[in-house]
Amino acid sequence: MAKVYNFSAGPAVLPHDVLAQAQSEMLDWHGSGMCVMEMSHRGKEFMEIIHDAEQDLRELMHVPAGYKVLFLQGGASMQFSMVPLNLLGDKQSVDIVNTGHWSKLAIKEARRYCNVNVVASSEDRNFAYVPAEETWQRDPNAAYLHYTSNETIGGLQFPFVPSEQGVPLVCDMSSDFLSREVDVSKFGLIYAGAQKNIGPSGLVVLLVREDLLGRARADLPTMLNYQVHADADSMYNTPATYPIYIAGLVFKWLKQQGGVKGMASRNAEKAGLLYHTIQASEGFYTTHIDEPFRSRMNVVFRLKDEALEESFMMEARKNGLIQLKGHRVVGGMRASIYNAMPIEGVKALASFMQDFARQNG
Ligand SMILES: *Cc1c(COP(=O)(O)O)cnc(C)c1O
Repeated sequence: MAKVYNFSAGPAVLPHDVLAQAQSEMLDWHGSGMCVMEMSHRGKEFMEIIHDAEQDLRELMHVPAGYKVLFLQGGASMQFSMVPLNLLGDKQSVDIVNTGHWSKLAIKEARRYCNVNVVASSEDRNFAYVPAEETWQRDPNAAYLHYTSNETIGGLQFPFVPSEQGVPLVCDMSSDFLSREVDVSKFGLIYAGAQKNIGPSGLVVLLVREDLLGRARADLPTMLNYQVHADADSMYNTPATYPIYIAGLVFKWLKQQGGVKGMASRNAEKAGLLYHTIQASEGFYTTHIDEPFRSRMNVVFRLKDEALEESFMMEARKNGLIQLKGHRVVGGMRASIYNAMPIEGVKALASFMQDFARQNG
């Protein structure tokens, strides 16, 4: 098989070393004679795997005391329901910032349970920016403020963390989790679907401040209750054992790569290379996102002539550069360059883009 660079938005590229290690341990994990998929989740082998994964994540993100780490299922989308159902308590309303596709889904789902105050929206300019915080219309009585730190489809990323103002911050960090340093103590809850920066799909990782537990409504299904999962250390039922194992290998790999700090500087370099290529193309490629908010994870761009898009993707594929098609709701191209995308892949894409522009400009 020829070498490819996979720019998929998710499920996305995983570190080659992690996949190779999983392969080498597939039939016999650490002399246990078992594949991780075959282990009892309550046996000592898997307990070691989940314990190490949690400890490594805590280390990577400098998670302060007083936070629970949960490994749950249902992807990030399940959190669009679980967050309001668990955190509303006796409040009537939640604050949500609307910066694109994923924010809108969070809003839509929360509206099923409570009043949603959209504090700010950048829909007026097709989600090309994050509204300045001074303009947000916040409700001091909101149960929490929810925002999406990186809009995976639109290619928009928050360059700042909103202020708390006495209201817990909740962040959907699915597509930029572990990609840059974050002060966890500023947040009430962070959640991230695994298939962007962590591991296999289906798994969702949560960091939740303990004082926010125990507010769930009484009629909530047991499986949707954070408190239940927190009390059982994510073992109320059988967790997604193999995805947790892979996530654990990814966390160890990140530690070897200089941790989140090391990743952040490489991610800045990778994104810089692509945005520079777009800018230097003199209009052959364009991005509609205002500069301070351009995502370092999902670089969304268009070709000046839409008719060239098909041949761009075909030629790219011939060069081993795959899954560059933008999401159907925004069109154009999207290069997702998560932690596991090596700089060589980004260099190969940048140089292909230059060649293609030269030949078709
Ligand atoms: C991918 C994604 C989701 C949805 O994740 P699922 O695992 O498919 O539910 C939610 N929010 C963001 C920001 C995402 O990138």
